[in-house]
Amino acid sequence: MKNYLQLTRHTGNNSLFLAVEMSLISTLRGSPFHIHAEGLRGTGKTTIMRSVKMMLPKITRIKGCLYNCDPADPHCPQHKHMTPEEIASLGTEEIPVPFLEISHSAKIGTVAGTIDLSKLTNPNQPEAALLPGIIPQAHRGIIFIDEINRLADTSPEITDVLLDAMGTKPGRVQIEETGLPVVEVPVSASVWAASNPDEEPGPLAEIRRQLSDRFDLVIPIGRPSTAEEVVDILETNETTQQQNDRELSPQERSRLEQLKNNLESIAHQDELKMPEYLTNFLANLYINYNLESLRALEAIRQAALLHAALRKRNQIMISDIITVLPLALYHRVSSATLTEIMNTVNSNKMIGSSEKKNEPALRLPRLFQQKPTQSQPDDTPPQRARSLRNLPEDELIKKEKQ
Ligand SMILES: [Zn+2]
Repeated sequence: MKNYLQLTRHTGNNSLFLAVEMSLISTLRGSPFHIHAEGLRGTGKTTIMRSVKMMLPKITRIKGCLYNCDPADPHCPQHKHMTPEEIASLGTEEIPVPFLEISHSAKIGTVAGTIDLSKLTNPNQPEAALLPGIIPQAHRGIIFIDEINRLADTSPEITDVLLDAMGTKPGRVQIEETGLPVVEVPVSASVWAASNPDEEPGPLAEIRRQLSDRFDLVIPIGRPSTAEEVVDILETNETTQQQNDRELSPQERSRLEQLKNNLESIAHQDELKMPEYLTNFLANLYINYNLESLRALEAIRQAALLHAALRKRNQIMISDIITVLPLALYHRVSSATLTEIMNTVNSNKMIGSSEKKNEPALRLPRLFQQKPTQSQPDDTPPQRARSLRNLPEDELIKKEKQ
């Protein structure tokens, strides 16, 4: 597996690094944050996502609990009714944040849960018990699904399970097995998915719109755009291929450890609060652009919060929203609407100065007071909005600091 820090960052994939770090922080905070990387084969999206496995912090669970019960808040069928004393007597253990994969050929029993054959066939004490599947076992962690568009196309029943698990935060999963009572467990896991919208069966938004909308962010992955970036990728690939079998050097290990500790410490900080004028801004965005789901606003809010935390700022700024806006709306509005929204937001000359003067409440909502004239109805699946892939985030921050 490639080292997360060795992977080349370029204009086409930068947002994905940001998204995985934001989602990891949110997962550690107990609040799932679902991300979907869309891009051509060979753009390295799955490599980036999988490489996070090397820097997963640890969580504490009740010893041996396959559902990863938090000793302070047990939720599984076996532990949820126990007293704190009984829980304490079971002991605890530390495991890395779960990172489990669902392949597009997975079966429902593997994903949700099935009858535990080892317990059923135990000659000393046969009993009918359930074995939790991948989703309940990923509680407090990450579920990774490559080719999610194919999964949605070929396994509608697994898609339904995912819709339940991602529907609310935390979600839930039902484990059903003939002859046993249906068991429902809460699940708090972030879903990370990847797909190639240009390959069969096409973009997820066209196959199962509902599932596509469950993702807080969709990150369009592009090719590197300069020759220097390509050279860098080739050189890194060459080095990592030569080094693939060797252990990480002490320096690499310590840098990775540093990044892990950094993300963990951000996750333990108090959550920032969205200032009122930015909430107003989002409300106006929703009304004036006829956004289809309130999920979009929730996603923007949560993403902006995480982005500000990742940038180690103690307040959320409009630049946080502008950075995450295209990723939260990419799969939810047409590219024409998205372009229009971004143009309106970016062209507002008052953004920098008004935040500084602390009087933005008067100005920002006015941005959207008039109904846009050229916005299109969102009944068609969103088009790619490639020009918005990369935002001039650094420039914005510079502008805000002026
Ligand atoms: Zn448990």
